[in-house]
Amino acid sequence: MAPVIISIKELVKNYGQFKAVKGISFDVFEGEIFGLLGPNGAGKSTTLEIIETLREKTSGKVIVNGFDLDKQPGEIKKIIGVQLQSSGYYPNLNLTELIELFNGMYNKKMPPVELLELVNLKDKAKAKFKELSGGQKQRFSVATTLINDPRIVFLDEPTTGLDPQARRNLWELIKKIRDKGTTVILTTHYMDEAEKLCDRVAIIDSGEIIALSTPDMLIDELVNSGFERPKEIKKANLEDVFIQLTGHSLREG
Ligand code: ADP
Ligand code: MG
Repeated sequence: MAPVIISIKELVKNYGQFKAVKGISFDVFEGEIFGLLGPNGAGKSTTLEIIETLREKTSGKVIVNGFDLDKQPGEIKKIIGVQLQSSGYYPNLNLTELIELFNGMYNKKMPPVELLELVNLKDKAKAKFKELSGGQKQRFSVATTLINDPRIVFLDEPTTGLDPQARRNLWELIKKIRDKGTTVILTTHYMDEAEKLCDRVAIIDSGEIIALSTPDMLIDELVNSGFERPKEIKKANLEDVFIQLTGHSLREG
């Protein structure tokens, strides 16, 4: 089994009287795609932002790649890639200029063409961020997490609001990042997405982890407990119809 790259023990976050994260513990293994699943308000973003050093925790222990969050947050920052909210980009710079700007911030020399190629945006090198479609914006923002060649990439709801093709396209990109050896931790509330994409998932509800395993094992457990879907399942669903009719390829022109 791969070594542990993120270790969370008894993590607590209170906002005043409100307990947003109630003492959760979990490990993320190096090289996996780990999903934090849960409804809105479950505490997913809070948890991620604490690990990303962007939010103070109330208590608990967080170790990232051997660095203790309490003692070496600067070391953690150096080895992670974090997706910014898209509003964080200068709207009037083109994609090449934005990457050059980030290169300057990180003191790196990632060639813009190489990065844009990776996320399938080479032909948009001279386009401004505001001119991109939703899926392209998401792919670009994933690209910016890779500029400092991170060991771990954090993606908070990377596919929310995307159409089915753009979601699939982003899944491929996330797998490509993982296949290069980078650990990915993401949040989603799309269970089909988690089932296809994640090696392991933690289901979080009201600040507590209520399940943690591979999607396969969680499904098997449920089936073994006697659960059956209430009606016979058809061999396709409406999303399959949509994808068949509109095609698998991206259409963002
Ligand atoms: P998720 O990402 O799973 O939707 P969040 O981590 O954003 O959930 O939020 C968890 C809970 O904490 C929610 O009930 C939210 O309203 C609350 N919360 C988040 N940020 C703050 C804040 N800065 N102040 C007070 N409450 C907050
Ligand atoms: Mg959130």
